[in-house]
Amino acid sequence: MEIKKTINKKRYTIATLGSHCSLQVLKGAKDEGFRTLLICEKSRSSLYRRFNFIDDMIMVDNFSEISEQFCQKRLNQTNSIVIPIGTLVAYMSSEQIESINVPFFGNKWILRWESDRNLKQKLMEEAKLKTPKPVKSKNDIERLSIVKLHGAAGGRGYFLAWNKETFEEGARKLVNQKKINSEDDLYIQEYVMGVPAYLQYFYSPITRNIELMGVDRRYESDIDGIGRIPSRQQMGIEVEPSYNVVGNIPIVLRESLLGEVYAMGERFVDAAKRLVPPGMNGPFCLEGVYDRDGNFITFEFSARIVAGTNLYLDGSPYSGLIYPQSMSMGRRIAHEIKLANGKRRIKELLT
Ligand code: ADP
Repeated sequence: MEIKKTINKKRYTIATLGSHCSLQVLKGAKDEGFRTLLICEKSRSSLYRRFNFIDDMIMVDNFSEISEQFCQKRLNQTNSIVIPIGTLVAYMSSEQIESINVPFFGNKWILRWESDRNLKQKLMEEAKLKTPKPVKSKNDIERLSIVKLHGAAGGRGYFLAWNKETFEEGARKLVNQKKINSEDDLYIQEYVMGVPAYLQYFYSPITRNIELMGVDRRYESDIDGIGRIPSRQQMGIEVEPSYNVVGNIPIVLRESLLGEVYAMGERFVDAAKRLVPPGMNGPFCLEGVYDRDGNFITFEFSARIVAGTNLYLDGSPYSGLIYPQSMSMGRRIAHEIKLANGKRRIKELLT
C-alpha cells in the first residue's frame, strides 16, 4: 500500500536503447507498472513498433545521439532512469557515458572497468577469481591461445593461435580486413579447455542480497557450426573460426557447483565496493569456462545486464527459486527501483 502511494507521487519512466535486451527490459518495466521509453534508431523502428509495452520513443539516426542535448532533455522531462545495456558500452566511450547527464541505473563508473582490459583484470584479481593467463607477446605463445580485439566486440574477429606464426597469420588477416590497424590492437590469452558458462547475477544494495538469476552459454558463429563438418572436410577447407554471437542457449548447472557460484558473485560484489564505489549494484555477469575438474576460470565480466538474460523472460530455474512470479532480469531491475522508491532510497540505485 505504502509502496503504491510513493510510486504515484514520483513516477519514473524506464528507458533504454533499442537493441541487445531492450525488449526484455521494457517488458519487465511495464509488468512492474512503469512507463517505458525507447531510444530507437530510425532504421529499427518497424521492429519496435510491434510491441505495445513501449509507451514512448525518441527517434535517432545513431545511438551516439543519446549524449546530445535534445535526447538528454527528453529523458529528464520524462523523469527517466536509463538502464545501461551492451549497446551503450559498444557504441560509446567511457568518457561519453560518464558525461551523460541523466540518471543511470546501477554504477555507470564501473562500465569503464568493463571496457578497459587492465582495469578488468584488476577487479577480477581483487575478487580472487581464477582467470586465464595473459600472454605478454607473440613470442611467448607456447600453447593454444585465444587472440582477442579490445573492447566488447561480441567475439567478432577472435582467433586461435598456437605459436608466433599462427598469430601473425591471423593478425595479418584482420589488418587486411581493416578490423585492426596493427598487431598492437590484439590481446593474447591462454585458451581454457572446458565448457563456457555465463553466470547472471543481480545484487541489491537495498536488501544487500546477491541473487543468481540464470546461466547460459552463447551460440557463436562459426565456432559452434564447425562440429557439423567432418574433420576430413575441415582439413580440406581453410576455416578460421570466429566467435560472433548469434544467440544464447540455456544451461542448468550441477547443483554441487552452485555454492561456489554464489561465493564468486559475493567476492566480486565485495571487490567492486572497495575499488569502484558505489560498487556492483544491479545486474552483472561472470563469463568463463568450467574445466574438467569443475573449476570456473573467468575470462570476462559484464558490469550490466547481458543479452543471455533474454532467455528467461518468464523466469529461470534459478529465479524461480527466489520469486513466485515470473522474474526476468529486466523485471528484477524495475522491481528494485520500485522497492527503493518505496523506501525513499532511490538515490542509492542511481549514478
Ligand atoms: P566479448 O567480450 O567480445 O563479448 P568474450 O571475451 O566474452 O567476447 O569471448 C567470446 C567467446 O570466446 C566466448 O564465448 C568463448 O567461447 C571464447 N573465449 C573467450 N576467452 C576464452 C578463453 N580464455 N578460453 C577459451 N575460450 C574463450
